[in-house]
Amino acid sequence: MNSEKSRTGAADQVRQPSRRSFLRAGAALGALTALSTTASGLMAPSAAAEEQLTYDVIVVGAGFAGISAARDLRDQGYSVLVLEARSRIGGRTWTDTFAGHTVELGGTWVDPVSQPHVGAELTRYGIGLVEDLAPERTFLPTPSGPQEFAPAQGFGNLGLVYERIFEGSSQYFERPFEPLYRSDLIGAKDQLSLRARLNQMNLTPAEELLVNGQTAVYSGGSSTSGALTMLAQWWALAGHNNVGWEDTMRYRIAGGTAALLNAMLLDALPVLRLNTPVTAVTQSGNYYFVSTQPGSTYRARGVVVAVPANVWQTIAFSPGLAAARTTATTQGIGVTTGTKLLINASSAQGRFYAQGAEGGSPITMLIPDKPTAEGQLYIAFSTDPTFDPNNPTQVRAAVQQLGADVDIVSIKAHRWGSDPYSRGGWAFRKPGQLTSLYPAVTQPTGRLAFATGDIANGWSGYIDGAIESGRRAAHDASVGI
Ligand SMILES: Cc1cc2nc3c(=O)[nH]c(=O)nc-3n(C[C@H](O)[C@H](O)[C@H](O)COP(=O)(O)OP(=O)(O)OC[C@H]3O[C@@H](n4cnc5c(N)ncnc54)[C@H](O)[C@@H]3O)c2cc1C
Repeated sequence: MNSEKSRTGAADQVRQPSRRSFLRAGAALGALTALSTTASGLMAPSAAAEEQLTYDVIVVGAGFAGISAARDLRDQGYSVLVLEARSRIGGRTWTDTFAGHTVELGGTWVDPVSQPHVGAELTRYGIGLVEDLAPERTFLPTPSGPQEFAPAQGFGNLGLVYERIFEGSSQYFERPFEPLYRSDLIGAKDQLSLRARLNQMNLTPAEELLVNGQTAVYSGGSSTSGALTMLAQWWALAGHNNVGWEDTMRYRIAGGTAALLNAMLLDALPVLRLNTPVTAVTQSGNYYFVSTQPGSTYRARGVVVAVPANVWQTIAFSPGLAAARTTATTQGIGVTTGTKLLINASSAQGRFYAQGAEGGSPITMLIPDKPTAEGQLYIAFSTDPTFDPNNPTQVRAAVQQLGADVDIVSIKAHRWGSDPYSRGGWAFRKPGQLTSLYPAVTQPTGRLAFATGDIANGWSGYIDGAIESGRRAAHDASVGI
């Protein structure tokens, strides 16, 4: 950035409020969540005035990737406009309240030990962790139907099968944050679906049933759709063992994912416009012109596109998307069937974990959350497009298929695949995608950079990956400004 211009304020340069003045305004407003949703009104000049301005960088999308990029860019003194389609920040993380508790409708668990980018942000902003209460019992599928196991036995058995599935991962993912480092080994592994890997292993019927619900749900419903290298990379990142793997679903951010996101936003002080879907990004000479559905066009020297990979195809890019990105957005990376449910219920089984077999119950994984006034909150995942997650009769029948029972009080669910601004849930690469899309899918075109957890080098499909990707894109979009 030209620091002289920044100090003197050239005619087309954007001025942004100081951190102190913003915090004063924030204190008057009260809660951080209120701040984030009213931030556009607080910080932004009118849309008409803005169109006359040139920002250093425009960030499209205010999920963890976009807010991380905006924070880094503002840290370096760049002027930043964030354009967000929804009426809230957070994207596929969504802190809400339900049954008297703070809940997450999207990304939830973090592990600052194995996830360095999340760890660094929590340290930076002094935010702690909350540990989940462990399940009291587990219900797992067996050849003679669902059976109850003590948690140590159930999860221990699952871990033993995982260890065999990922045999060799410490070689082919020798450096898990550099997924292509062992290019001599990774090519052949990347062609394998999780189903192909399970078939290679001569599992007993009991072992197959124990594990295939998990491989299926991560893959979006069928173990044939998901790549072995996707799950194996997560296993590698978690330390190549079951203890590390279990820790990835053990801790949450104190105050919810929104607490961290709001801390980053307050640090960044970008101009933020909510309810502003971007429709086109056009390069002309040294500038990028970003058009929005409300009809405004903004100008910048660099752009970070921080929307999900599945959404790239809905934005008109000129020049067009690079080949790897066209392939990624057409094939999809986020699973289009991903639905998350929060179920407030009473149950004689109390705080239980339950898992179905592939192709069995429409709910494949059910995890106990906190106690409620009525009994217990449960988190459930479904990848069955025919299942109605808001229908208590269907939900109860699905839980009964898992071998447990619940008396449902209320449900809150979100179908991420039907959400126009995500067009999918968690990222899970298909066979061949790692080696055919990387590294091209991560590389900028000029100062047009792409950021999302879907294309992280490390924890792709996680909040950590979104932060990693946003930070890289912030650098790429500002080189030479
Ligand atoms: C159900 C579920 C459970 C998950 N569980 C975990 C977990 O436990 N732990 C974990 O670490 N991760 C988890 N994840 C993954 C994690 O939530 C994501 O990897 C991460 O939030 C992605 O961040 P992002 O910024 O890349 O994308 P997003 O969060 O999707 O942000 C993209 C933003 O772009 C906006 N946008 C889209 N289109 C436009 C447009 N045209 N114009 C302007 N803005 C636009 C969107 O509204 C959104 O705000 C889960 C995800 C889901 C769906």
